[in-house]
Amino acid sequence: MDLRDRPQDSAFRAEVRQFLEEHLVGEFAELGGRGGSGDETFGFDVRLRWEKVLAAGGWTGLAWPTEYGGRGASMTEQVIFHEEYVRAAAPGRVSVMGEGLLGPTLIHYGTEAQKARFLPPILAGTELWCQGYSEPDAGSDLANVKTRAVRDGDEWVITGQKVWTSLAHQSDWCFVVCRTDPESRRHKGLSYLLVPMHQPGVEVRPIMQLTKTSEFNEVFFDGARTHRDNVGAEGEGWRVALATLAFERGVALLGHQLGFVREFQRIEALAQANGRSRDPVIRQRLAQAHAELTIMRSNTLRSLSGIDGPVAPPEASIAKLYWGSWHRRLGELAIDVIGPAALVLEGDDPAAYELDEFQRPFLFSRAETIYGGSNQIQRNIIGERVLGLPPEPKGGT
Ligand SMILES: Cc1cc2nc3c(=O)[nH]c(=O)nc-3n(C[C@H](O)[C@H](O)[C@H](O)COP(=O)(O)OP(=O)(O)OC[C@H]3O[C@@H](n4cnc5c(N)ncnc54)[C@H](O)[C@@H]3O)c2cc1C
Repeated sequence: MDLRDRPQDSAFRAEVRQFLEEHLVGEFAELGGRGGSGDETFGFDVRLRWEKVLAAGGWTGLAWPTEYGGRGASMTEQVIFHEEYVRAAAPGRVSVMGEGLLGPTLIHYGTEAQKARFLPPILAGTELWCQGYSEPDAGSDLANVKTRAVRDGDEWVITGQKVWTSLAHQSDWCFVVCRTDPESRRHKGLSYLLVPMHQPGVEVRPIMQLTKTSEFNEVFFDGARTHRDNVGAEGEGWRVALATLAFERGVALLGHQLGFVREFQRIEALAQANGRSRDPVIRQRLAQAHAELTIMRSNTLRSLSGIDGPVAPPEASIAKLYWGSWHRRLGELAIDVIGPAALVLEGDDPAAYELDEFQRPFLFSRAETIYGGSNQIQRNIIGERVLGLPPEPKGGT
């Protein structure tokens, strides 16, 4: 893959830049690029309005096919968009799950009626989604899902508990993996349901995180209802669930990673300003982080450039393991660049303290080696599917 802009890429880059220059003003510019991971409550209402500005300009659903209202952007164009987005310090997106995970899944596995109903509001930023996969006993071992759904006429009635459900408190809908065949075990007998969050049978309980925000939640379903119209065949939701995971581990990560460039630059600037860059060990760690960042970009583009559809090549696990671990080390480097002051929180009132732009990613990046498949699980995939080592012995049947 040639990473230099071709003439048509330069034209696309200019178009993105012009849009951002014209629209990223006022309250949107004031957000200063905030609202990313671990900072998801910051300026939420403004970011929701920004979503609509992006939609009106045709900058949502970048990778979606044009027939579904997307832009049909090539991989190169997606990279350019994200690069410019980060460079302009545009706010963290609020429709990540809908646009990056459910939308592409529906495009591949949804019926035309489901696409017509659900894709337009995702693009418009008027319906937000969350992902109801993990349960107290089903995380890495997702096939152990116990939340069940039974049919009642034209509806599914859902009972059970999900956990670690990101942004559930801000979502209108949840895509939920449920056991619809009570006699089934493991990955058989599961279905992929689309469940409205605003109803009496759904309770969302926030979980306080290290960052003092509640990015994720427990979600309790107690007789929650949704239309019988599941995605994919009844009892065959596993295949659909895996497709969503492929999107999560694949292209959806791209924008996230490109944001690291800006973060690295801020740490580098701080080290120069406070003189820590004169410390040879810090200097070496900065240089190493920069070199690894460059490698990460090339590797990610290489592993994603051949993807067309809901398939994460095994190499995507290398990319996930690499960026999650790299970002954690970057957080540690930031804290070491600041020095002892990194332990001090702003403000006199402990109940109202704010983490700063370095403390926040330092703490939140711990989660990045867990979600989207933990480091250990990625290593298993790499061992089995990249290196061809014997498979891990599986429990159960
Ligand atoms: C910030 C954040 C946001 C999240 N958002 C969502 C969300 O929106 N929706 C959702 O459904 N889930 C979400 N999750 C949950 C996430 O997918 C799970 O945390 C993850 O799959 C791990 O599952 P677990 O926490 O149950 O840990 P477990 O699966 O219990 O694992 C515990 C430890 O054992 C290791 N381990 C487990 N199995 C193996 C094995 N076979 N080989 C080697 N080591 C193993 C793991 O790596 C881990 O270190 C989120 C998690 C985080 C941290």
